[in-house]
Amino acid sequence: MITGGCFCNNIRYSIDEGAYQSVDCHCTMCRHVHSAPYVTWLVVPSEKFRYTAGTPAILKSSANGTRYFCNSCGCHVACINTEHPEVIDIPVGSLDEPERFPPSGEIFSDTKLSWFHRDNS
Ligand SMILES: [Zn+2]
Ligand SMILES: [Zn+2]
Repeated sequence: MITGGCFCNNIRYSIDEGAYQSVDCHCTMCRHVHSAPYVTWLVVPSEKFRYTAGTPAILKSSANGTRYFCNSCGCHVACINTEHPEVIDIPVGSLDEPERFPPSGEIFSDTKLSWFHRDNS
């Protein structure tokens, strides 16, 4: 079982084991909502994901995007886009074992910060 949650542990979730892809998103909305240069998302089929503690607060961040975060510590734990409702995106940084899911690619590279360079060495 893959597990994770928010910083204060009010929100906890579990994901059925699987070989899920993760991807770096450089879109401006992820950057601003997470206050981070970019966000690495684990893409999980919705039926594999469930909350095991707490109920997240909801932010409608765009016409298609809804983001879920902890009301107590502000940590974001999920994003759902109505353009692909069969999956839920989970920030790899909220996983208990983020090392397991290195990103295999990136999206919204056109808005990537010019000073961002991954060190693959
Ligand atoms: Zn929290
Ligand atoms: Zn994004």
